[in-house]
Amino acid sequence: MRDDNCIFCKIAAGEIPSNTIYEDDDVRVILDLAPAAKGHALVLPKEHYANLYEIDEDVAAKVMRVAKKMAIRMRDVLHCDGFNLLQNNEKVAGQTVFHFHMHLIPRYKEDKNDDILRYNHLELSEEEMAEIRDMLR
Ligand code: 5GP
Ligand code: ZN
Repeated sequence: MRDDNCIFCKIAAGEIPSNTIYEDDDVRVILDLAPAAKGHALVLPKEHYANLYEIDEDVAAKVMRVAKKMAIRMRDVLHCDGFNLLQNNEKVAGQTVFHFHMHLIPRYKEDKNDDILRYNHLELSEEEMAEIRDMLR
C-alpha cells in the first residue's frame, strides 16, 4: 500500500533523501526536520497507513519494537535524561502528516520542552468516571 501524494511514503521508500538512522524491510527511522530536541526522530512504516486506526497490528508491533531499540540507542549515545514516545492521530490531536509515524523524543534536563505533555485536567465526578469506564470496557 502506498499513497503517491504522501511525502512520508516517498521518504520511507528512499525516493526523497532523509537523515536515516535505522532502516529494515518494514520501517525507516529518520531525524525530524523541525526537532523538539537533539535526536528527535520519526519511525515510519514503509507501507502507507494514515493513522493508528488504520495501521496493521503486526506493523504497529514492529514500530514499537524499533522504538524501544532506538530509545536505548539514544540513551546510550546521546545521554538523554529521559524519553517521550508521541503519536498523533487526526488534526484535532496535532497530526499534520497523514502517514502513521511515531515520534521518538529524547529529553534533556533543562530542555525547556515541558509543554510536550502538558494538558488540561478535567475534574470528573465518580459517576462520570463510572459511566466512561462502562462505555469503554
Ligand atoms: P505530526 O504533527 O503529524 O505528528 O508530525 C509530523 C512531523 O513531521 C513534524 O514533527 C514535522 O517536523 C515532521 N516533518 C514534516 N515534513 C517532514 C519532512 O519532509 N522530513 C522530515 N524529516 N520531517 C518532516
Ligand atoms: Zn504515506
